[in-house]
Amino acid sequence: MTLVVTGATGHLGRLTLEFLLAKGVAPSDIVAGGRSTDKLADFAARGVNVVPLDYTKPETLDAAFVGAEQVLLISASDPGQRLAQHSAVVDAAKSAGIAHLAYTSILHADTTEHVLAPDHAATEQLIRESGIPATFLRNGWYTENYTSATEQAAQTGEIVASVGGGRIASASRQDYAEAAAVVLTDPAARGKTYELSGDIAWHHDELAAVASELSGRPVVYRNVTPQQHAEILSGFGLDAGTVAFVVALDQNTRAGLLDSTTGELAALIGRPTTPLVDGLRADLATVPVS
Ligand code: NDP
Repeated sequence: MTLVVTGATGHLGRLTLEFLLAKGVAPSDIVAGGRSTDKLADFAARGVNVVPLDYTKPETLDAAFVGAEQVLLISASDPGQRLAQHSAVVDAAKSAGIAHLAYTSILHADTTEHVLAPDHAATEQLIRESGIPATFLRNGWYTENYTSATEQAAQTGEIVASVGGGRIASASRQDYAEAAAVVLTDPAARGKTYELSGDIAWHHDELAAVASELSGRPVVYRNVTPQQHAEILSGFGLDAGTVAFVVALDQNTRAGLLDSTTGELAALIGRPTTPLVDGLRADLATVPVS
């Protein structure tokens, strides 16, 4: 019955562990894998098996997967390296005879032109070719991606972006983590491809209104051109690669690649997705006061 959660030290991994425990999975049936096992000491104290797991060290994958039935592969965080890292996980899962592999992908992975999609589409293909029964959790954007913009807006009174009128159907990490826990605990939910996103596709004017509500000061959305956006980001000292990446993300949003409201996330978790204001309020509460 054992199930392995990779990337368990990250935000989504930790939340998924919490949902698995809340759903009644025995701690002894959960293997939480991470590069720094000390980050998982709190889960170890609750009886969860905490093991070293590094996508770049195949021996840690083999050891973590021994005797496991399921693996949740939480996508790695380094876009330049992650396809090779995911490939190592799929190989180890195949060797271990894993009966179900769930993977956190991206919305419309196989058709979208989103800049982050190629690694996800290729990983999905690797998993299909492996023959391991799989579930694809195609996650849309996290609401928490806008926490820092909301914090900055409390200082500056504006949210600067080059997304035009592009809308974003974000959901909170809590929502996506609960969905992952559902597919790991409900056999009827497995073997599918889910397009997961928030119930409401919001506009940056609405984000500014939420930032205003949360900060107690007027906040406006200032839409700039991609060129202006790049100049502003460069002025903050960001390197050229990061500037190009951030501007590209905004152009993907402008093109509507994140606005899809499929309803599949709410259906999977059996409740509406977390509203933008609530997701940001909760995440802001976790930000240390400097
Ligand atoms: P986090 O950055 O909080 O966590 C990333 C996790 O990946 C950490 O546990 C990290 O481990 C782990 N990781 C990275 N490299 C390796 C490696 N070589 N071996 C083992 N583990 C590794 O991200 P989230 O939890 O918030 O999100 C999960 C994933 O979702 C991200 O990794 C990314 O692929 C994707 N994502 C999606 C977003 C969206 O809006 N849909 C936004 C941001 C990310 P460690 O603690 O050791 O660093």
